[in-house]
Amino acid sequence: MALIVQKYGGTSVGSLDRIRNVANRIKALRDEGNQVVAVVSAMGGVTDKLIGMATELTSSPAEREMDVLLSTGEQQSIALVVMALHELGIDAVSVTGRQAGIRTTGSHTRGRINSIDPDLMNGYLKDGKVIICAGFQGLREDGMIHTLGRGGSDLSAIAVASALKADVCQILTDVDGVYTSDPRVVKDARKLPEISYDEMLEMASTGTKVMQSRSVEFAKKYGVVFEVRSSLNNNPGTIVTEEHDQMEAVVIRGVSIERSQARVTITGIPDEPGMSATILCCLAEAEINIDMIVSNIAYDGLARHSFTMHSNDLGRAQAALKPVLATLGGNSEVLTEAGIAKLSCVGIGMRSHSGVAAQMFKALGEAGVNIGMITTSEIKISVTVEEHQIEDAARVVHTAFELDKAPVV
Ligand code: ASP
Ligand code: MG
Repeated sequence: MALIVQKYGGTSVGSLDRIRNVANRIKALRDEGNQVVAVVSAMGGVTDKLIGMATELTSSPAEREMDVLLSTGEQQSIALVVMALHELGIDAVSVTGRQAGIRTTGSHTRGRINSIDPDLMNGYLKDGKVIICAGFQGLREDGMIHTLGRGGSDLSAIAVASALKADVCQILTDVDGVYTSDPRVVKDARKLPEISYDEMLEMASTGTKVMQSRSVEFAKKYGVVFEVRSSLNNNPGTIVTEEHDQMEAVVIRGVSIERSQARVTITGIPDEPGMSATILCCLAEAEINIDMIVSNIAYDGLARHSFTMHSNDLGRAQAALKPVLATLGGNSEVLTEAGIAKLSCVGIGMRSHSGVAAQMFKALGEAGVNIGMITTSEIKISVTVEEHQIEDAARVVHTAFELDKAPVV
């Protein structure tokens, strides 16, 4: 007998049939003698719909009221899942975030979990009940209803698994696990049996978004090993865990793709202290999320900086940079380019293997893919390419690192 904490996302509870499916899955675990706590999201689309209604009424809904509103989505699904379980004869009970003892802190709509008081849940478990817990919500120090940011049910599930010292934590979703690349693009992408927390975080930040990143950070901090798997079949998924020696034997764990990127280059920047700060501060004030930053050494006392961002932000970036240009002196120019994409190789094996970048660039060169910008971290190499070449680029790099073949370790 094990204590299993599961999380079912919006798609997994997206219709009454799906809710019945969830109930059946929980019943199967129960029949094997396990204790089950399932954290659930709002039914797919519900949170968006609630946000839509709020913004139709007002362009600046009060964040306190957004928390009150959005938390109702999860409250609907926990009650419905419990009812479906009752129909199957399973003794189940729903708990809201507050009842689950989830204590939060921070500003409205962006809560962080402070602690969990598991007494009520432990009592229910002792009585043999299945618990269905609302994700995405908790009770703030000052007694307010609090939500945890979009995708926050992942965080709720990891935190509940940690607080209850669960034997197993499963994130059930609409994909089979984490893949070496996007299977819609790279046909021979493989499901990874396991991945380290850091690789999962890098994959998420480079376009392979399976879970809310904060939940993975939380899992890493508290050592919660979890599995990402499908709620629609019984295939084994991907285990996300602390890295171990064998993991380093594989050079690259995955290849991520991020489309719809744009580049802004500012030329003729005086090579003086404070210039980069001036430029970046004005982009930050305009709330533009900068991704890659590349700058070259100055030539003739003038430097140039390039940044990438989502192409939706390009217009706002241009507007924000206009007043700054004037202060940089007459030689500066802003050049923009949309229609680019980012390709990233991620793997902790990079730390102990040399020549990884060379191998990646060689594969791209041989395929006739031109590289725009390059950035690296300890476990990641990212390049920009023209967007129309991104799929080919992903395929050749995937093949170059033999990601289609299961590694021999
Ligand atoms: N329902 C919330 C959202 O859509 C939380 C979640 O699904 O994890 O963001
Ligand atoms: Mg979700």
